[in-house]
Amino acid sequence: MDSVGVAAAAPDAGPGPAWQSKCPWGAPSTTSISCSLADVMSEQLAKELQLEEENAAFPDVVAAAEGPFITGEDIDTSSDLMLAQMLQMEFDREYDAQLRREEKKINGDSKVSISFENYRKVHPYDSDSSEDEVDWQDTRHDPYRADKPTTTPRRGFIGKGKDITTKHDEVVCGRKNTARMENFAPEFQVGDGIGMDLKLSNQVFNALKQHAYSEERRSARLHEKKEHSTAEKAVDPKTRLLLYKMVNSGMLETITGCISTGKESVVFHAYGGNTTEDKVIPPECAIKVFKTTLNEFKNRDKYIKDDYRFKDRFSKLNPRKIIRMWAEKEMHNLTRMQNAGIPCPQVVILKKHVLVMSFIGQDQVPAPKLKDVTLSSEDMKKAYYQILNMMQQLYRECNLVHADLSEYNMLWHDGKVWLIDVSQSVEPTHPHGLEFLFRDCRNVSQFFQKGGVAEALNERELFNAVSGLNITADNEVDFQAEIEALEKMNEDHVQNHGKKLSTFSSDGDPPIYDE
Ligand code: ADP
Ligand code: MN
Repeated sequence: MDSVGVAAAAPDAGPGPAWQSKCPWGAPSTTSISCSLADVMSEQLAKELQLEEENAAFPDVVAAAEGPFITGEDIDTSSDLMLAQMLQMEFDREYDAQLRREEKKINGDSKVSISFENYRKVHPYDSDSSEDEVDWQDTRHDPYRADKPTTTPRRGFIGKGKDITTKHDEVVCGRKNTARMENFAPEFQVGDGIGMDLKLSNQVFNALKQHAYSEERRSARLHEKKEHSTAEKAVDPKTRLLLYKMVNSGMLETITGCISTGKESVVFHAYGGNTTEDKVIPPECAIKVFKTTLNEFKNRDKYIKDDYRFKDRFSKLNPRKIIRMWAEKEMHNLTRMQNAGIPCPQVVILKKHVLVMSFIGQDQVPAPKLKDVTLSSEDMKKAYYQILNMMQQLYRECNLVHADLSEYNMLWHDGKVWLIDVSQSVEPTHPHGLEFLFRDCRNVSQFFQKGGVAEALNERELFNAVSGLNITADNEVDFQAEIEALEKMNEDHVQNHGKKLSTFSSDGDPPIYDE
């Protein structure tokens, strides 16, 4: 704080005569200045003066930093929407602060002026950096619970909340084009404001401005669709921002609603957006959002912990990352299946715990699960052989065991069976891989035997047919025991040689090792 600034502004701080503030330099030496040394030295005064100074220099920015829509005492942190706004505000602040610093540095005293209006419309609300995120999730509280939307009934959308929604759309969504800034301003690091390196040229600003216009229209569309969507009530703010970003980027046209709310995931339907040079977007997509709370994932440890593909990473991960690994696992497994030609959703993109894939079904109507569809006996038989074939392909070509195969995770679409839900799938040499396979076989056999398919193998025959193993036990208990013995043999091998068998051998030959 320089002395001139103090002298010029000090009279305003105290209740002096009007002429005094108008002409501080003309103050007679006899008049006692209302501002004591203590006042001048006070932190509060210093802050006020600084604020004043900044106000004069950067009126818009400072106004924005005050926050246009979080106004006071009764901030309702129970509202997802409000939390999202608060997140947004935090980014705003960091962004604007950086803007201020950068503006000073670039402009100095020159006449170059940049419209803050434009700056404020662009806003970095999402960063792809996953390391430094705020963890918004309280794991004791599950935002995906089915009863959540009713216990917080439409809050943020009607009544007091309606206000918020409107402002949210104008102010927050108005800035959404920032999500694309990274596309055309690589040196303009956006995101969380940490380590932000703001190097904006006029050219970039013009591009941003022009972009903002076209994004306005998208914003309107987003708003419109949002009103009809129940989707965003079911997801936490962070996920919602991810979903918004997918719409904002043009990858998705709209997210129409929720298809399924399960214990471990929520699945949404979306219409695909623009296909780009490097990405083909299906006309309809399914978005699987893995729950970011751990409640339901605790008992899934056994699938992933022993999967060597993930083993090294498992111990180092925090809960959020473990959940992302489920999404990642589903992506990898679907890709393997796709490559083998097994009918399954095609992966579009994976973003953190959100997996976008092609939609099995049509016009927003998902294909029915096998358990819900009534097939002719001919189709039933056809489905059975198809599944037998797919299980073999999965095992031999994809080196996978579904591990949750049942009529719940098979869809009937286009006259054939589609496999879904493969986040828990494991390789056959997983310590429990063969047990999982046996369970799958039991589900499939029972379903088709009950469904009247006379040709359906029993679970033991099916197991051998899929695995190529030749377990001869003629009853379930012995069969299971042999399976476990095989698994143990593999584990012992891992203990002794630090390496898994690449496959289980058939016909009692020595195991085939992967050297
Ligand atoms: P989970 O059972 O772990 O909740 P799923 O992957 O089985 O997750 O998905 C739940 C439900 O969502 C499925 O039973 C199915 O009805 C629907 N679904 C999932 N993926 C798709 C998809 N790609 N196309 C159409 N419907 C899907
Ligand atoms: Mn499922």
